[in-house]
Amino acid sequence: MSLVDLRDVVKRYGPLTVLDGVSLSVEKGEIIAIIGRSGSGKSTLLRCVNGLEPIQGGAVTFAGTVVNDPGTDLRKLRQQVGIVFQSFNLFPHLSVERNITLAPTVVKGMDRRAARELARTVLRKVGLEEKIDAYPDRLSGGQQQRVAIARSLAMSPQLMLFDEITSALDPELVGEVLKVLEEMAADGMTMMLVTHEMGFARKVASRVVFMHQGKVWEQGPAAQTLARPRTPELETFLSAVL
Ligand code: ADP
Ligand code: MG
Repeated sequence: MSLVDLRDVVKRYGPLTVLDGVSLSVEKGEIIAIIGRSGSGKSTLLRCVNGLEPIQGGAVTFAGTVVNDPGTDLRKLRQQVGIVFQSFNLFPHLSVERNITLAPTVVKGMDRRAARELARTVLRKVGLEEKIDAYPDRLSGGQQQRVAIARSLAMSPQLMLFDEITSALDPELVGEVLKVLEEMAADGMTMMLVTHEMGFARKVASRVVFMHQGKVWEQGPAAQTLARPRTPELETFLSAVL
């Protein structure tokens, strides 16, 4: 059984069809880079995986649970599926520690001392252990994104979703965030990431999925798909971004 399975997923906003019959399976340990033009449905696809978007057709399954089933406990699902967005979404009035430990203490009932230890552990993974007592406004954008990643890791997710998490960063801060993703990949984390960093996709992703007009237009092994696109649409896209 695949960890993630999308079958003929249709997502509409009013008259606009944003996902037009998307089928995609992700195996445990895979790193999927999702690429494509703005508006092609990449963010919507990620949001469907953790049940942030109701769908109008098809099915989304995560670890055997049908995400779009009305009976599914989405809160429980989201403990298994972390998501990090482009904009930093740390709570500005909470320290780094509290940003990270809020969910484990509130949702999982972990005590404060164990939670601080957990915060240390996940901050070590993103190279920011010394910032445990800092407030978000004292951190660079790259550091804030690394804390956001650490916060997701604190819930021990089975899958991580990343939506253009380096797009809002100054160029010199992109590398430190990509390095954290690379280490997570080496640790065996399953990831689906929307990215415009083609060099990173080629190096780290096991598979590239090219979205076009709400469809999975083309997909395949990363290096091969980026070097030898089979469709003119992917060829055009790549020549614009590379
Ligand atoms: P991408 O991430 O590839 O840029 P999105 O998934 O964000 O694309 O959006 C796909 C399409 O859906 C776009 O045309 C966008 O304008 C539209 N869309 C996204 N969110 C909404 C919304 N909440 N209401 C209406 N249209 C939306
Ligand atoms: Mg998007």
